[in-house]
Amino acid sequence: MEIKFGGILKCMAASLAAWALGANLAYAQSQSQRDMHLEAATRNTGGDSFLKDWTRDRYCMYVDNPALLAQIRTQRAPLPLMQIFDDVWFVGFQNVGQFIVKNPNGFTLIDTLNSGADVDNYTYPALKSLGLDSSASLLGAYITHGHFDHDGGADRLRAIFGPNFPIYLGSGDIAGKTYAPIPLDSDNLGYQSFSLGGRQMTVLSSPGHTPGTMSAIFPVRDNGIERNLLVVGGTAIPMNISASRSYLRSVERMYQAVRDFNAVGTLHPHGIIDGGNQHMEQIARQKTRVANPYIIGNEKLLRTVAIMRECGAAQVAQVDSTAKEPVWRVTSLAFDAQSPSTSRMAASLRSDWGPVPDQEVVFRLKTSGAMCTAMTDSNGLATCGSRFTVQPKDEVTVSFAGKANGDYVDLPAMRTAHVSNLQCDIDSNGSVDRRDISAIMLGINRPIVAGDPLDADGDGKVTINDARTCTQKCSKEQCAS
Ligand SMILES: [Zn+2]
Repeated sequence: MEIKFGGILKCMAASLAAWALGANLAYAQSQSQRDMHLEAATRNTGGDSFLKDWTRDRYCMYVDNPALLAQIRTQRAPLPLMQIFDDVWFVGFQNVGQFIVKNPNGFTLIDTLNSGADVDNYTYPALKSLGLDSSASLLGAYITHGHFDHDGGADRLRAIFGPNFPIYLGSGDIAGKTYAPIPLDSDNLGYQSFSLGGRQMTVLSSPGHTPGTMSAIFPVRDNGIERNLLVVGGTAIPMNISASRSYLRSVERMYQAVRDFNAVGTLHPHGIIDGGNQHMEQIARQKTRVANPYIIGNEKLLRTVAIMRECGAAQVAQVDSTAKEPVWRVTSLAFDAQSPSTSRMAASLRSDWGPVPDQEVVFRLKTSGAMCTAMTDSNGLATCGSRFTVQPKDEVTVSFAGKANGDYVDLPAMRTAHVSNLQCDIDSNGSVDRRDISAIMLGINRPIVAGDPLDADGDGKVTINDARTCTQKCSKEQCAS
């Protein structure tokens, strides 16, 4: 599973796969590299409306939408202090903010707003209202990068909290800083574990936006559960050739970090970019952080970073006409109808370019650890032989390790499901009942992948006929549950 995607990979496409790629390659060659990557960013949204209408537009606006960028820069209204996790608050403005983190022994900050005046008017009152001095002190600050909208308040913090107050900044941005930052090593591109106010976090040097940009994997508590979030250290993609290339490589390493640490959402000082502002509006509207909108899940976060990566590749192509970077394609796995079950184990592998043929996928049973390896066919479908025996209710994980072939990098995918021995048992609870039927009804006319269990009659779409087919298979009278 340890696949690194960073390097330029030699073309290793199996001749078997070549025919399937032919159509895409012909199309690709008719597009500019820039447009091909922009289109890939769009495709990698997988049709998710938030990723398509928000995430993709913002992370790519440096390449293709200067009007949006200009509009965002004008949005400077203050946003009130808001709790977004059990132990994290946001305060600042629409276009930039900071996070206040509560630790057992005191508070820490991620970023410092624009200026000393912002510290006096926003940071300090916010900390006071959360109990600074009376119950806890300020233990340190981590600054994502050295632009004024992130470290503008650092001198004022130094003045208030004294010479021993730790302020961490990537070493690449440290030149000329008057607040005596403690350097985090920008030349070390591996994971650097680091304690901020007693909280163990992992920083990831991600040069590009600035030489010293530091992203992080940051643990927070969400309704009592610890979850890892990705702190996006810097987003605006530079026009300079080498810096834009650094940005691209940094985003690729962020993708790997999201996988390695199972990160499930972002903390972004620019909530206007990652959707944090909308998440806060939603929390305010629903008056609860249960079902926290910041938690988008690992799969959607991986899509997000793959979109960022394609925006970065588009910028590299825009500023360097000789550049050629492989296109990153998000893939996904879906168990097919009647699977996973005691009689059938099959899953289809797709990207938003179509089925992914001739690839190895691995099915693994949780209880016994037994594995089955199968190749995807021309429809992307991989099927285990009948000798792979499984027990009802066991948990099975199917995974694809990813594949690079010079023009494309097909990203890894994984899906977990419980074994059912029943067709139409959509929720795999061991019986076919009205919950399964209503799941099918809700799926009518929605786009599905090949072999979707909702498509009980296997005609490639979800219709009332699938609900009828399954109603006849209900375990109890009147589909009782
Ligand atoms: Zn910046």
